[in-house]
Amino acid sequence: MICPICGKEMTKGGIILSGIKLDGEFTWYSQNEFDKKGLKAWDRSNRKNIDAKRSLMGEEKFNNAYFCESCNKIVGIFTINI
Ligand SMILES: [Zn+2]
Repeated sequence: MICPICGKEMTKGGIILSGIKLDGEFTWYSQNEFDKKGLKAWDRSNRKNIDAKRSLMGEEKFNNAYFCESCNKIVGIFTINI
């Protein structure tokens, strides 16, 4: 994939979330909801849960994360579970 910031070729990989003790969620919120602070309740109606594969060791694995060596950034293309 081409980096959306600098236009160079990125390296394909994946993200592994390890050391999770609870059954957590990896959730996307719109910017408006994401920016809310403190005790303001997040409007959870439009959130998107990102689909992860749990490994035998308990890690959550997210496929399709691309690393740009030039920008030092990672861009993810994640599937949501509906
Ligand atoms: Zn880049």
